Amino acid sequence: RPNSNAARDIAAALHPYTDLVAHQQIGPVVITRGEGVRVWDDAGKSYIEAMAGLWCASLGFSNQRLVEAAVAQMRRLPFYHSFSAKSHEPLIELAEMLLARAPVPMSKVFFANSGSEANDSVVKMVWYFNNALGRPQKKKLIGRVKGYHGITTASASLTGIPTNHRSFDVPLAGFIHTLCPHHYRFGEAGESEEAFATRCAEELEKLILAEGPETVAAMWAEPIMGAGGVIVPPATYFEKIQPVLRKYDVLLVADEVICGFWRTGNYWGSQTYGIQPDILTCAKALSASYLPISAVLVNDRVFQGLAQESHRIGTFGHGFTYSGHPVPAAVAVETLKLYDELGIGEHVRRVGPYMQDGLRRRFADHELVGEVRGTGLIGAIELAEDKATHKPFDPARKIGPRLAKLSEANGVISRAMVDVLAFSPPLIITEAEIDEMLDNFGRALDQLAAELKQ
Ligand code: PLP
Repeated sequence: RPNSNAARDIAAALHPYTDLVAHQQIGPVVITRGEGVRVWDDAGKSYIEAMAGLWCASLGFSNQRLVEAAVAQMRRLPFYHSFSAKSHEPLIELAEMLLARAPVPMSKVFFANSGSEANDSVVKMVWYFNNALGRPQKKKLIGRVKGYHGITTASASLTGIPTNHRSFDVPLAGFIHTLCPHHYRFGEAGESEEAFATRCAEELEKLILAEGPETVAAMWAEPIMGAGGVIVPPATYFEKIQPVLRKYDVLLVADEVICGFWRTGNYWGSQTYGIQPDILTCAKALSASYLPISAVLVNDRVFQGLAQESHRIGTFGHGFTYSGHPVPAAVAVETLKLYDELGIGEHVRRVGPYMQDGLRRRFADHELVGEVRGTGLIGAIELAEDKATHKPFDPARKIGPRLAKLSEANGVISRAMVDVLAFSPPLIITEAEIDEMLDNFGRALDQLAAELKQ
């Protein structure tokens, strides 16, 4: 079918996060429309979008209030910029709304277009801040193994996932990584979560001391690590690492790109895990992902540093043509209003535990499942070849991606991160839709178990 969508895609498109050779044979799933938590492909098959796309379409795929907000703004002022002290109302209103909702007192908001750009901007802000303080050598940045902060050269350097580094010549010099706080995978035999958290904090301190505290500027952390495999921090983790960072004046950047806007059952993941960031980045659910926009919130100490340095040099020489673009900003304002009006927080606090309970009840004892984890409306199952020893399957067998394909055939789009299958549905999902999602996914899991026995 040379003129089919699939054939045209194969001929023309280079896809992110795809085996480009295999794609030439297999081709894409072409999605043509969405309604609520569901999307349809060009053959008419419907799926529950259990990942809200990429952890992002928080209000589902057909919210007309967001459409109307975009159209109204397009009619009024379809573009303006924010360079050289120009501004516009959607940018101002969105900045005010974010400051009013921040998990800790924040001073100012900078806008970009994606999570990667937000984190990349923070790298430069942190360096700028330390230049302002007369300590240009305090420059190194700490990420965590399995952390994900984006794909620009700097944000990929913060990321701690091998496939984001290999062959791209990142991480850049000065980007270092500390332990992944995943108790199930990296805790030692008999080590409690608390003891493991203590070890993570000790390792962080050792790293800072080995590098020289006068050279370490900031650490990035997602409240729950998403793309690394929905890794929930062990009890007392943030309680223990934050004093270490404060001791050496290392700024803490909370990457709320996935966890922000109720995903974990609180407005911010920082509230769920007691994080008090100096800087916060967010994107995705900021605009329900209907249009691209991201934000960086900085506290007053950081802002004062940036302000002084910009005054000394003559300008804050950073920003994007589309920083705070009025159309995505207007959609984001409407999104934040909808979260309040629809009571999305109360809804997630009701259906989140329902999904978590459903995941555990149905899958924790399954022969292929090693761990079930998550909180609120973000969860995952991790497959294991040996339940008792946690021994993983050989990644070359691609068991996780096989399960994701089976799940898709059963009408549920999940996502495999190696052998972790994630669930991060639109926040509007109902209990009945959660049951349908887990029933259909369970069928795929049983099919996989049967196939592996053949
Ligand atoms: N930070 C986190 C925690 C993410 O999950 C992502 C994307 O998934 C990013 C940053 C990068 O965002 P983007 O893909 O919008 O550049």
